[in-house]
Amino acid sequence: MALTALASPLSAEERPAKELFGAKRLPAKMVTAPYGSYAKGCIAGAVAIPTDGPGWQAMRLSRNRRWGHPNMIALLEQFSQDAQQLGWPGLLLGDISQPRGGPMLSGHASHQVGLDADIWFTPMPDHRLSAEEREKLPFTSMLDKSKFLTVDSTRWTSTHARLVMKAASYPQVDRVFVNPAIKKKLCETWQGDRALLGKVRPIYGHDEHFHIRIKCPEGAPGCKPQAKVPPGDGCDASLAWWFTKEPWAKAKPNPGAKPVKPRYVMLSDLPKACSTVLAGASPASEQEVTYRGGSAATALAFSGGDQSAGGAVEAIINADTTLPAIVPIPIPRPFH
Ligand SMILES: [Zn+2]
Repeated sequence: MALTALASPLSAEERPAKELFGAKRLPAKMVTAPYGSYAKGCIAGAVAIPTDGPGWQAMRLSRNRRWGHPNMIALLEQFSQDAQQLGWPGLLLGDISQPRGGPMLSGHASHQVGLDADIWFTPMPDHRLSAEEREKLPFTSMLDKSKFLTVDSTRWTSTHARLVMKAASYPQVDRVFVNPAIKKKLCETWQGDRALLGKVRPIYGHDEHFHIRIKCPEGAPGCKPQAKVPPGDGCDASLAWWFTKEPWAKAKPNPGAKPVKPRYVMLSDLPKACSTVLAGASPASEQEVTYRGGSAATALAFSGGDQSAGGAVEAIINADTTLPAIVPIPIPRPFH
């Protein structure tokens, strides 16, 4: 499919944006900035999360969607540690974004600006998965498929609940998306801060993974935020709606209607800056733009010396600009 796309005589203006962004293997080496909205945008200066860390393993590596805003990658590192504190063995990471964000050839309407990440509801196994296992390990739904929109109580545990609520607890997290059945389960069982529950939003799918969305970073005027989450725990009519027929009803066929030709999102539909992002030069290698916030060696490289690793990571997050030159170290990052 990529080959036909490349061989196509169509100019960039005439090809769907997903083909253009889907063909990029590396990010644009530019000052880090998301442009546009979660579902219609792109990102300059994205960084990759290493395929392995002490508390995570990235899945489906062939998709090349381990790229995100450094704030997102830093959060995932932090979350992987916090998850282990909760008794969760570690995170299996699903898609974040493409190297330059943008629309994708498959899956996801959002994940376009490096500020969304999917986490499997399957805990990390006790061994390092091979590349093949990472492609093939099946998803496990948390739902009892023999019933309508019901959590499978033999699979869902209180640790799953605490994991989702931990994700919601970070101030930089805007929303956490889960299946309506999971949201309902949390509404019925969560004993902690109910206000945090409001950040957990019900949506189709998301029964074998949950989706973390962080806010637009400070000093990123091109990033279009989503409307604020309404106040309250969300265990209300907005949730009850999912348990009616309406969201699941098939569109009624209209025999009189002309078939609608699908209209692809084009580069011109995205913010202007995304053309620049698409055309931007690549770094020399993936290693050069692989995030290593948590490692002591990098902390030194980033800070020039006497800061603690944590402080250095924070400085990078706050600076929210392009990463300084990094001393290349091999990936995957060694387990300490
Ligand atoms: Zn997602």
